[in-house]
Amino acid sequence: EFYLQQIEQQQQLNALVAVFPQEAKQQAELLDAKRKAGSATGKLHGVVLTVKDVIAWEQHPLSASSNILKGFHSIYNSTAVQKLLAEDAIIIGINNCDEFAMGSSNENSAFGPVRNKIDESRVPGGSSGGSAVAVQAHLCMVSLGSDTGGSVRQPADFCNIVGVKPTYGRVSRHGLIAYGSSFDQIGILANNVEDAALVLAVIAGADDYDATVSTLPVPSYSEELLSSSNKPVIGYFKQTLQHEGLDEEIRSSHFAFIEQLKQDGYEVKELEFDLIDYIVPTYYVLTTAEASSNLSRFDGVRYGYQATPVKEELTEFYSANRSEGFGKEVQRRIMLGTFVLSAGYYDAYYTKAQQVRRKLYEQTKLVFSEVDVLLMPVSPSTAFKIGEKNSNPVEMYLADIYTVFANLVGIPGLSIPLFQHSNGLPFGLQMMTKHFDEVSLLRLAHTFM
Ligand code: GLN
Repeated sequence: EFYLQQIEQQQQLNALVAVFPQEAKQQAELLDAKRKAGSATGKLHGVVLTVKDVIAWEQHPLSASSNILKGFHSIYNSTAVQKLLAEDAIIIGINNCDEFAMGSSNENSAFGPVRNKIDESRVPGGSSGGSAVAVQAHLCMVSLGSDTGGSVRQPADFCNIVGVKPTYGRVSRHGLIAYGSSFDQIGILANNVEDAALVLAVIAGADDYDATVSTLPVPSYSEELLSSSNKPVIGYFKQTLQHEGLDEEIRSSHFAFIEQLKQDGYEVKELEFDLIDYIVPTYYVLTTAEASSNLSRFDGVRYGYQATPVKEELTEFYSANRSEGFGKEVQRRIMLGTFVLSAGYYDAYYTKAQQVRRKLYEQTKLVFSEVDVLLMPVSPSTAFKIGEKNSNPVEMYLADIYTVFANLVGIPGLSIPLFQHSNGLPFGLQMMTKHFDEVSLLRLAHTFM
C-alpha cells in the first residue's frame, strides 16, 4: 500500500510505464497467507521491486520504451524475473528507460523523459533512469536495470543511490532484450549495498537458456559483506582523474578520498592507462555493430509496429515499419553499426575495435595482478538539465568515458553515493574488481557506506 501510494503521488517523475496495483496486492496477500500458514518463505519474501522495460515478465508489457513494441506483451519470463518471483518478490511495475537502453539521460524514450527527484528539471541519467528514480523516490525497494555501458551505474550516480553491474556472465541474459550482447548485463539499483547483495545472490547463477552465463557457484553475498578480510590494495588510473573533461570538484573529491584511504591504512597505487581515449570509440563501434544485428528482428512481420496503410512490397514494408517505429537515436545507431560492419569498412572499424578490446582485456589482467580494486569516477559531471545535451550525440557519448571500460572487459563495477557537489547535486564513486570478484567489490562498498 505504501509503495502504491508513493507511485500515485509521484507520477510526474514518469519513472514507471506500467503499474499493477491489483496484482501486487493479490501477491502480497498470497505471500502473507503463506507466511501465516508456517510455510517456508523465500529470500525476497514481500520485497517490492520494479523491472526495466527491457526485462521480460510473462503476460506483462515489454516495449524497450519504443514505439516499435508498444502494446507488446511478453510470452515468457526472463530468468532474472523468474528467480525473483520464485523467492517471493512482488513486482509492482515496469520502469521507463531510454529506447532499447540506448542513452545516458533517459530522454530517448517513447514514453517521454524521466525526472530526477532531486531536481525535477534534471535528468536521472540513463538508460535505466526509471529504475533509478523508482528506488530514489521510494516507488519500490529495489529495481532491476541493464548495463551495457554504464546504464545502471550512471543513473545511480545521478540519483544518489547504489548501482551494481555484475561480471559479464554472472546473471543470465535470457529474456533481456539484446542491445550489445557481448556487453549487456542485468544490474541492480538499490538504496544500500545490503539490498543489492541480497538481490544479486538471487538472480545470479547458471542458466540453461544462456550459454554465456557462468556455472561458478554463487557466493552468499549478504553474509560475505560482514566477513573479515585483509584491506584490499586499491588502484586508480592517473589518466582518468587527469582527464580534461572531468568536473574540477569531482576530480578534487576523488583525490581527497584517495588521501583519506591512505590515512586509513589502505595501500593505494597510481596506475598508467594510456588507452583512455580509445575506450569510447571502441565501445560505440562494437555496440552499434551488435545492435544493428540484434535489432534486425524488429521488422513488424510477426509482432510489433506496422505502418498503415500496410505496404505491399516487402522492402517498403520493412522500411516503413522501422522508420516509423524506431526513434531517432536507435536509427542513428543502427546506421552506425551497419556502416562499421559493411564490406568496405569492416577491417578499418570493426576489426580494429576488436583489437583494442583485446588489448584492454590484457591490460586489465595486469592491473588486477597489482591491485584488488580499481577506483574511478562514474560520470564526468553531475546530473544535467533535461534538453541540455540531447542535441549533440557525440558529447553525450563522450560522457560514458568512465563506465564503458567495465563492459568492454566484462568486469564487475558499482557506483555508491558518497559525495555532494557544491551545486547541490550528488555524485558517486565507482569501484571495479577482477571478473567474478563481486564479494570484494560489495564488501569494500559496504565499508565505505
Ligand atoms: N550510455 C551508454 C549507451 O548509450 C550506455 C547504455 C547502457 O548501458 N545500456 O550506449
